[in-house]
Amino acid sequence: MKEARYYTRLENQAVLCRLCPHGCRIEDGRRGICGVRINKAGMLICETYNRICSGNIDPIEKKPLYHFFPGKNIFSIGSIGCNFSCAFCQNYEISQARIDTFQQLKTYPPEDIAALAQKTRLNIGVAYTFNEPTVWFEYMFDCCRQVHEKGMKNVMVTNGFINPEPLAELLPVMDAFNVDLKAFRDDFYRKQSKGSLQPVLDTIKTIAQSGKHVEITNLVIPTLNDDPHIFSQMCKWIADEIGKTTPLHISRYFPKHEMTLPATPPQTLEKLYDIAEKHLTYVYLGNFYLPDKGNDTLCAGCGKVLISRYRYDVEINGLNLDGTCRHCEKLSTIHHKMPI
Ligand code: SF4
Repeated sequence: MKEARYYTRLENQAVLCRLCPHGCRIEDGRRGICGVRINKAGMLICETYNRICSGNIDPIEKKPLYHFFPGKNIFSIGSIGCNFSCAFCQNYEISQARIDTFQQLKTYPPEDIAALAQKTRLNIGVAYTFNEPTVWFEYMFDCCRQVHEKGMKNVMVTNGFINPEPLAELLPVMDAFNVDLKAFRDDFYRKQSKGSLQPVLDTIKTIAQSGKHVEITNLVIPTLNDDPHIFSQMCKWIADEIGKTTPLHISRYFPKHEMTLPATPPQTLEKLYDIAEKHLTYVYLGNFYLPDKGNDTLCAGCGKVLISRYRYDVEINGLNLDGTCRHCEKLSTIHHKMPI
């Protein structure tokens, strides 16, 4: 437990949390929407500081990040809580858990996380993932500093629903982001996730403007966000506002949690892939394998294969260490040279 950052004390020991756009007003003894920030006698506490429930050595491709040290591992950690409550959440067992009833939390101070990351072979750093790391802000921030001190990288896998002030503080210590852009309609966010679209778009823009690496994931759910016209608008927005070379991961949905709609049909994914390719240079398919598209990274200059992938098997065949193509020397957006 640790005192939270970004809150304001109000009358009668109530507080206002300013970490995410929900802006929860929290009375004494109560928690905010995310379920892990509690008001104790007028002091807002991050209950999950030092507390993690999952720690895996994952391929960086699993985050997914395809242009950030491809083929390397990243020590991936997560805790409980989320500021969204998506009916289709793939990790609802942890995202919707509460500290009083969840038994599997273990204590790891930030320096232990950094030491573990450093000990792991072919590991480039730490990814904050599995649940929404924004609601773990204080711990994530302290871990990031320790990881940077060891010369390693930090990665955030996020829904992007964070206020500008904490995001600005985080940017200098975070190296790469995968932001889940769940849909390009505000009513989807309000109905399906209990959030809103604009703050997520603002977060993606701010990250891109800061020069930090960003990739975007869009989980396609039949009938809810698979309208080709709106999908095309989303891809155009990414190209115009973030850049044509921003990697987009189109991900297949499977029924989970409260969502019983059938899995996304392969034809839908192929169709959206073809639309995305009209706007963006690097488009990938996730949770779904097609032998001839959505896996490899091709050079935007000469079209030759820079990186070939079969699920999480990665072969870097056409890329120089500085991110240029071995055949035509065109610069890609790929970070490749190991930081350690
Ligand atoms: S971080 Fe949690 S408590 Fe704070 S505003 Fe967001 S949902 Fe509410």
